[in-house]
Amino acid sequence: SAKAAGSNQWAFFKQQMTEKAAVMLRTEASLHDAILNNEFLLHFQPKLDIRTGELLGCEALIRWQRDGRLISPMTFIPVAEETGIIIPIGRWVLEQSCKVLNRWQKQYQTSTIIACNVSSKQFNSASLVPDIKRLAMRYQIDPGLLEIEITETSLMNDIEPAIDKLHQLKSAGFGIAVDDFGTGYSSLSYLRHLPITTLKIDRAFISDLPEDSAIASTILMLGQQLGLNIVAEGIENEAQESWLKAHGCIIGQGFYYSKPLPVEEFEQRYLVPAAQRVSSE
Ligand code: C2E
Ligand code: MG
Ligand code: MG
Ligand code: MG
Repeated sequence: SAKAAGSNQWAFFKQQMTEKAAVMLRTEASLHDAILNNEFLLHFQPKLDIRTGELLGCEALIRWQRDGRLISPMTFIPVAEETGIIIPIGRWVLEQSCKVLNRWQKQYQTSTIIACNVSSKQFNSASLVPDIKRLAMRYQIDPGLLEIEITETSLMNDIEPAIDKLHQLKSAGFGIAVDDFGTGYSSLSYLRHLPITTLKIDRAFISDLPEDSAIASTILMLGQQLGLNIVAEGIENEAQESWLKAHGCIIGQGFYYSKPLPVEEFEQRYLVPAAQRVSSE
């Protein structure tokens, strides 16, 4: 009967939900162990001055080393976000980045910026701003060298408290980038009120270049009008680069320059003084 069929469907649905919950719990448990067992690491992808090739900064991107394999953040960050375990993971990313900044200052006398991705839940937690300030103090970081990347979508979720938090970070001197810009639904007039320093044009609009440039040029003009830094993310070829150069975009990131690299490789390629690099090759 229809009723029996309905109840079968319900049983099936319930079983599926239970399985999903079980997978989530298992992943949460192993993510928790991952913190304790030091299974996370950061890769660094350079951000370069498109005009000169000079290194300006980099983005820290998390990886999970599990049974000899590197697991992409795209598979575990969403689970971490849903279960809340993103908070300690995100804190680990910030602390690790501050440690690296501290070491780079001493070892290379560099002013390379590190940008850290902050997820929605992490951004909304009350401890974010005090955590960041405390870390910057402990590791003696010039706040201008630490940049927070937050996606347009997570900012727009709950805009009023977000603005307040951005003010606190910006007035302390930290950089704030809106990540994946152009994919959300923010009203452009809102952007004026956001205390941010940088817009990152989403990769989707860079991959359209040079044929389809309407969105990229609109974002560039808007950002220039508002006096923001603009980063083009996901540059993969010379044609994209030339278009961006011709349209006044200064900061570039993408496989065309480099994939995200393990820290030692990043240092060897980008932080060793030029003279030394030439003679060692
Ligand atoms: P995202 O913040 O937008 O980071 C850029 C992603 O694009 C990175 O992927 C990077 O490897 C990739 N990418 C860079 N250049 C190119 C290119 O030229 N072509 C293509 N096809 N891809 C490019 P990744 O490392 O897999 O990270 C994916 C996403 O995971 C990030 O997107 C970010 O949303 C999230 N994520 C990564 N690390 C963290 C973290 O520490 N915390 C949080 N909350 N999220 C993170
Ligand atoms: Mg990012
Ligand atoms: Mg992005
Ligand atoms: Mg993204």
